[in-house]
Amino acid sequence: MDNFSGGSTDIYDFLRIALDQRFSLPLMDFALSIDANLPLNLPDRLDHLVKIVKQAFEVDIEPHRMFDMLSMLKQPSADGKNLLQHNKNVEHELNKYVSNIDNLCDFPHSTAFCLTFTLEPKSDRCPQCQKSLSSSSKFRTVTLYLADGRSKKATVVSYECKSNQCSLEIFPNFIRNLSDNEQYCFTNQEFLSSGKYVYLGGQTAFECLLLKQYACLLSNGHVAFDSFTRAFNELIDDSHIPLERRLFERIFIIYEIIQFQLFMGTGEKFLNQCCAFFPSNISTDIDNFIMVNYDRFYKKFVQFWSSHNTFYPCKSVKEVDNEYDLCSAAVICDGHMKIRRRLCANPNIALSLPEHFVYLFKPLIVGCSHTPNPKEKLCTQCKNNNLAKEASTSCFASEKKQSQKQSRSLWKIIMAMIWQESSATDHRYIDHTDTDVTGTPMTTVSPVTDALIPSASLLSCNVHKEDVMTDESKRACGILLLATNCQVIICFEEILRSESRKQVMQALTDLYTITPMLTRIVIYDAGCLLAKSVRANFADESRSNEFNNNIGFKALKEVRFFVDRFHLSNHKDKYCHTHLNLDLDDTLKNINSSSCEQINSWIKSYSQMLSNMNEYRFVAALLILFHLRNCSHTKLCNRWVDIERNSGSRAIPHSSSNHMVYDEQMNII
Ligand SMILES: [Zn+2]
Ligand SMILES: [Zn+2]
Ligand SMILES: [Zn+2]
Ligand SMILES: [Zn+2]
Ligand SMILES: [Zn+2]
Repeated sequence: MDNFSGGSTDIYDFLRIALDQRFSLPLMDFALSIDANLPLNLPDRLDHLVKIVKQAFEVDIEPHRMFDMLSMLKQPSADGKNLLQHNKNVEHELNKYVSNIDNLCDFPHSTAFCLTFTLEPKSDRCPQCQKSLSSSSKFRTVTLYLADGRSKKATVVSYECKSNQCSLEIFPNFIRNLSDNEQYCFTNQEFLSSGKYVYLGGQTAFECLLLKQYACLLSNGHVAFDSFTRAFNELIDDSHIPLERRLFERIFIIYEIIQFQLFMGTGEKFLNQCCAFFPSNISTDIDNFIMVNYDRFYKKFVQFWSSHNTFYPCKSVKEVDNEYDLCSAAVICDGHMKIRRRLCANPNIALSLPEHFVYLFKPLIVGCSHTPNPKEKLCTQCKNNNLAKEASTSCFASEKKQSQKQSRSLWKIIMAMIWQESSATDHRYIDHTDTDVTGTPMTTVSPVTDALIPSASLLSCNVHKEDVMTDESKRACGILLLATNCQVIICFEEILRSESRKQVMQALTDLYTITPMLTRIVIYDAGCLLAKSVRANFADESRSNEFNNNIGFKALKEVRFFVDRFHLSNHKDKYCHTHLNLDLDDTLKNINSSSCEQINSWIKSYSQMLSNMNEYRFVAALLILFHLRNCSHTKLCNRWVDIERNSGSRAIPHSSSNHMVYDEQMNII
C-alpha cells in the first residue's frame, strides 16, 4: 500500500515542487483528484496514476517524484483538507451568510441573492442590439427542484433592454417581450438548453434532467403526474418543499409544448433559430394559450407523423417471423373508452372543425365540449347563455350563436348513433338506432342528420347486437385513435357522446386533407359497417359533388376498409371474411393490425390522469403524450428533422385568424 501522507514535508517542499516546470497547479489538482478516485489498495496504483496524468497532460513524471508531490500536497493544513483544498461546505457558508441579520442590514437589497444555485443569462449583453445590460439586472429567488429530490432556493437573474428597437427582458432560458399590451415569452434551442436548469417564469425552476426523466417515464411507462410527484417527494424527506402535482403538471406541459414547437421547427426565427412561444404567466394563462394555439399544433402533429415514412421510414422488425413490417402500410382506427373527461350538460352545440376542413355532415349536434364548473352541470359559457333551459325547437339558432363563440373546437361527433357493448371485448360498436344518450329520438334534436343515416337493411353484419344506453353521467365517451401499422399515432379525436361511423369518416377526411399521400388502407373493428356507410352517404352524385374539390373527401371514397384479425372472428357475415380479411391480401397479410390495441394498453394507465383534466390541458396532454411516444417509438427523439425540406414543403393549411397571433407579434421585434 502506498502511503502519501508522510507528514514531514512543509511549505518549502511545495515551493521546490512548484519550481519544477512540469508541475503546474492544474496538474497537481488533477493528480489529487485521480488519487481520490482510485481504490486505496489497487495493485500498481502509483504506476496507473503516473500514466493517467501523462495521458491528460502529456508530461513525463517519475513515479517517485509523483509520490513526493502527492505526499507533500496531502499533508493536512490548519483550515483545509490539504494544501490546495479548503475544507468548507460552500452551501452551508452561503446559507449562514444570507440568514445573518447583520449582513442583511449592511446590504438589504442584495444579500438574499447570495445563494449556492444561480440561474443567469449566458451574457449580460442584449442578444439583439448587443448593448451592455449589466446595469439593468433584476434578481429574484425561486424554488429549484433537482433531479435527486432536493429542493433549493435559487437566484434567477434577468436583464432588461429598453433601447429604441428593443423592449425585452432577457432570462437565462427565454426572452420576455415587453413591447405589447399582451406580454408573451419566447425561446429557442440555444436559450432553452443553456445551463443545467430551466426556468420558465413564476416561482419555480427545475433541473432539466428531472423534466427529461419524466418525459421518458411518460412515453415508455405508466407514470401519471401524481405518481411522479409523490415518488419525487419521497426521495428526500428533510427540509424539502414538496413538489405540488398541479404546478408540476402545468410547467411540464408548457415545457413539452415548447419542445414540440422546436422539434417541428415552425416558429419565427430569432438569432437564426426557430422560436417557441409560451405564456408569460403559466399558471393563469395556460388554458388560453392552448385554446389559441392548439389547432395549429395539432395540424402540425398530424402532418409530421402521418408523413413520417417519406423522411424517416420505420424499420421495425417483427418478432415472430423476423420480417420487416412495412412502414405506414395501413391506418388502424380504434376507440379507447376509458378516458372519460367530465362534460358540460348542454347537448345543443354543433360540431366545429378547425379552418380548412370540410364538414361532411352539417350541422352535427355534438353537445358542449367544455368542462363544467366544479360541482355544477354547466360550463361558464353555457351558464351565462342559459342555453340548456331553452326549448329544443330553438336549439339551432342558439347553437349557431354558440359555435361562433367557441374559438377552438375539440374534435366532436354526432349523437345520431349510440354505441353498443360487444360481448367479446370492451369495444363498443355502432348501432343504427336513432336515439341519443338520454333515449330521446334524435329527430327532435336534428332532423337533418336523421336523413343521412343509411337504412338498417344495408347493415347485415352482426357486429351490432343489442342496444345499450350510455350511462347517465355527463362524461365524454373516450378517444378515437388512428395509428399506422408501424405503431405511430397520426390522429386522435375526443369522442364526446358516442362513437359513430360519421366520426371516423370525418376524421379520415381531415387526415387525408392534411396528408393526401397517406395509404388508402384502413383497418377498423367495424370496417364492414364503415365501408357501407361511406357508400350509403356518398353514392348519390349530387351529394358527393359538393365535396369534389376536397382532396380529403376524394381520398375517403378511395379507401379500402379491412377488419383487424382480432375482431374478425366476431363478424358473422361471410362478406367480411372474404372481402375485409387482411390475410387474404398478399401485401397486407404480414402487417401488424393490432397496433392500436398495443397503444391502448399503454394509454389506459393514463385514463384517470386524463379524465380529471379540463378540456385544454386534456388535449395538450394528449398531444404531448402521443408526440413523446412517437418520438421514442421511431427513435426520432432529440433529432431535428427539417420536414419542410424533407417532405417537399407541402403547404399546411394555416389559419389566418388569431391562431397566428404569436407569430405576428414576433414580427414587431
Ligand atoms: Zn436590445
Ligand atoms: Zn412508420
Ligand atoms: Zn379494437
Ligand atoms: Zn357548455
Ligand atoms: Zn362485418
